[in-house]
Amino acid sequence: MVTVWGNIMKNAEIEHKTEYNLMPYNTLRISSIADDVYFPKTHEEFSLLLANLDLPLVIGKGSNLLLSSFGIKRPVIITKNLNKINVKPPFIEADAGVSVSKLSNMALELKLTGFEFLSSIPATIGGAVSMNAGANGQEISDCFVSALVYDSDEDKIKTFTKEDMGFLYRSTKLKNQERYFVLSAKFELKNADSYDCIQELMNKNMEKRKASQPSLNEPNLGCVFKNVIKDGEKLSAGMLLDKCNLKSFPVGGAMVSHKHANFIINFNNATSTDYLCLMQEMQNRVKKQFEITLMPEVIYVGDDKKENQIWKQITQS
Ligand SMILES: Cc1cc2nc3c(=O)[nH]c(=O)nc-3n(C[C@H](O)[C@H](O)[C@H](O)COP(=O)(O)OP(=O)(O)OC[C@H]3O[C@@H](n4cnc5c(N)ncnc54)[C@H](O)[C@@H]3O)c2cc1C
Repeated sequence: MVTVWGNIMKNAEIEHKTEYNLMPYNTLRISSIADDVYFPKTHEEFSLLLANLDLPLVIGKGSNLLLSSFGIKRPVIITKNLNKINVKPPFIEADAGVSVSKLSNMALELKLTGFEFLSSIPATIGGAVSMNAGANGQEISDCFVSALVYDSDEDKIKTFTKEDMGFLYRSTKLKNQERYFVLSAKFELKNADSYDCIQELMNKNMEKRKASQPSLNEPNLGCVFKNVIKDGEKLSAGMLLDKCNLKSFPVGGAMVSHKHANFIINFNNATSTDYLCLMQEMQNRVKKQFEITLMPEVIYVGDDKKENQIWKQITQS
């Protein structure tokens, strides 16, 4: 513990580490040293950091973040200690750092339906809300009521309604920006007919995932690219990549999963450059074969010049 100094932060004691390896805080298990990492425990500490740090990077479970192996210069805030939950059935309110699978299990115990899809997503509430996480036809926006959001521009905590959030497919107004941050979110679930029907749906989702996707024993960031709509038809990015025979295709220590062509796994000390080069190869092959440009679902964070060039080419092609 150190004392963090700043205009407003004078005397605020917030857990702070320097030269800290973020390997446990990204599901790809990339080794990425951050200059400064903070672990707030309350909304007040989180807001204080957001008000005083320059361009902070907020990390939940890092299950959608490709962190640069060259390290992270921006100050990092990890939300794992923001973990309060308030239950008033059918409402559940949870802090940004709460694990979504924990909430899913809690909803099961309360015989509330709507969170079944979250049981196998390795995310926090903050990450899932700002990315509009979803699976099996359900999205976090479906049961979202409101969120407490810190607005860095106005230095204020605001209540965002569903409309304020701007929910889209795997995106919201909060994705990839530096102004708004989720402190907590409130959801309204529905009473289920029985415990068993929720459990059954959770098991079904889990089995489907097990059969078609790599587990985190093969470190990964979930789907690399978003699905696409072409001529009004929804096309799965995984299907397009599979048709390009990309399963098991390697670059350095990164490889397209043999189970799912839209997953890249870290099979041998992969670097972020390996991952980016592989993404580019996957994108190029789909473009060549189908004249479709896949857009990333994962988010790259880093300052390396070469990596930023590749990322720019991937996101702007
Ligand atoms: C094995 C696996 C399976 C997956 N399956 C799915 C799936 O089925 N559906 C799906 O949608 N996704 C899936 N994902 C992707 C990922 O889990 C989601 O995108 C999730 O929402 C990310 O949550 P996180 O807490 O890990 O966020 P992070 O990866 O830590 O962060 C993601 C983004 O959210 C921002 N963020 C984090 N916390 C906050 C906050 N409090 N306020 C504002 N911004 C914040 C970060 O700065 C970053 O920009 C999967 C990933 C893996 C590894």
